[in-house]
Amino acid sequence: MDKKMLKSIPVCKFDIRITALTNLKLIYFINAYVRNKILILDIYDTENNLKYRVFQSKTEFVTLEGTKWRQSKISNLIDCYPYPTFIALKKSADIIQKYLKTEEDAIKALKSLQEAIRKDELDNRYKSELDLIDSYMKPVKAVPKDFEKWLNDVALEHSRYIIYEYKAGKAMKGRCTHCQGDVLVNKPKHNGSGICPSCRSEITYKAKGKSNNIVDRSTAQLLQKHPNGVIVREFEVTKRYNSFGGAQLSFFEDNRSISGIENLDFALDEYKQSGKIRWCKDKSWNIATGALYTRNLKRELAGTEFQYSGLLEMMLSGRTISATDYLRAYQKGPALEYLAKLKLYNLVLGVLLNRYYEEPVNLEGKNPREVLKLSKDGLKRAIKFNANHNELRLLQISEKEGVHIPDELFENIAEDFGYYYEDFIRLSKLSNIHQQLKYLKNKKVNFGDYRDYINIATKLNWDVKDRFILFPRHFKASHDQAQELVKVKETFKEDKIIRGMYQELNKQFEFNDEDYSIRLPKTAREIIREGHELHHCVSTYIKSVANGKTLIVFIRKANDPYNPFYTMELHPGDFKLVQVRGKNNFNASKELEPLIEKYRAHLTKSQSTAA
Ligand SMILES: [Zn+2]
Repeated sequence: MDKKMLKSIPVCKFDIRITALTNLKLIYFINAYVRNKILILDIYDTENNLKYRVFQSKTEFVTLEGTKWRQSKISNLIDCYPYPTFIALKKSADIIQKYLKTEEDAIKALKSLQEAIRKDELDNRYKSELDLIDSYMKPVKAVPKDFEKWLNDVALEHSRYIIYEYKAGKAMKGRCTHCQGDVLVNKPKHNGSGICPSCRSEITYKAKGKSNNIVDRSTAQLLQKHPNGVIVREFEVTKRYNSFGGAQLSFFEDNRSISGIENLDFALDEYKQSGKIRWCKDKSWNIATGALYTRNLKRELAGTEFQYSGLLEMMLSGRTISATDYLRAYQKGPALEYLAKLKLYNLVLGVLLNRYYEEPVNLEGKNPREVLKLSKDGLKRAIKFNANHNELRLLQISEKEGVHIPDELFENIAEDFGYYYEDFIRLSKLSNIHQQLKYLKNKKVNFGDYRDYINIATKLNWDVKDRFILFPRHFKASHDQAQELVKVKETFKEDKIIRGMYQELNKQFEFNDEDYSIRLPKTAREIIREGHELHHCVSTYIKSVANGKTLIVFIRKANDPYNPFYTMELHPGDFKLVQVRGKNNFNASKELEPLIEKYRAHLTKSQSTAA
């Protein structure tokens, strides 16, 4: 509808004031008239304020509220409960009925017309969405002629049985569900496994009469050309056996994924709660990774962007992967092609699982060495080990660190030190891989503990190349001792600071009178001694003194300057007393109060002098 034109249609005069009903806010009056072949419904409240203008044609409608256009139906226009009542007086009702060519109640007819219009619009919108989906589905070809046979032979390869008739004795008569051959079997066990003497299939034995309710399921994938690239179709396959060994195979397609110009996923699903099961956009959670029909693969991939993707090689390796995942990873770069053609199937699987924070495979690499980020020799070894993602990482790290891992140790190291590759390789340079492994194994040392020990030893400036230090005879004792020493060493650092503070600042903080002397601590050890008196955690005490967060001074008796008497903690900014603790009295006795006052005055004075 032409909204500019609609807005220009002048409002027809209307005057209704129902003073007796002014409290009825839920009643609205409709004034109807026709202009430019459009039915106009001006909606007023009971005080004759124009609230809405509805412009209604036979096929469309739109509502103006103030200056805002709204798409709501009349029935949804006013969002409140109880629902508002619209009243059209006789003249307006006649106009509406005439316009809608109906004898029905005017308001009711209007509401159902609006309902029908919106439903049509919705259907049309859905229709264009569904038409689009159908346009992708239409070019999908029929399944190959031998597809069902292939499902039976390959997708359901595990579903093969010999149903035998139990008889006392050794040999019993049976029939193979795969080749239908009548065979003699020797002492079969119900649910035991064996080989069919006729077709050489691996089979499971089932005693006749016990074989009903066998249902085998599998998933399968079929790839075909599509105008957009290729489509991968996913099937659920079911095979049910009756009690005599007869079987029925059924298959059901539930996902389709197009990869190529556009990547699109479809699932067989109920469309928008319509009750209709059909192809819908977006993939269902159920993703098949079962066998892929390979007989057509070369032909179907030829001429597409996936012609050289290596998908066929990967599928022939017997790994079960989602063909769509493979194709989409290949779209990022040629890496998968190289990996599949070099038979590095484990790395392909790792890429598709995509669970690595940092993908060790370079998907955009332009050649195998770039893809694996390895030297020529490293590439050879990756192929030789049929490396997985962990092993590739180990190869990459050892090359970067210039450490060669002997072949015979490679797999064990890859398996046992996954979290620690970098550290394991780095530390092995202190001796060599063989010796490091031998030590860890003989002493049953956890590598994480060993790494911590070497890190601590390095901090202590120990000669970690010295074998007595590198491979201590008693690992736990050496580890604990090193840890203890580090603590002491850290205290040494703080001790140095505290000694420095004494040298530099004690002149300002020193105080002497006839009865007492006050001074800064000289060493960390002194604080430890006092800390015990203060019932403080010694280590945090030393730390906070060294970094200036706490100011500690010692109060001594003038005639006994060497023994702790009181220890005083002051705020380092304004020298306010935080606490004072003594050997005998827990809290400072009254006798100290004059001293503390005197001392604070002294500090303030000496600070201003110093400044
Ligand atoms: Zn057979």
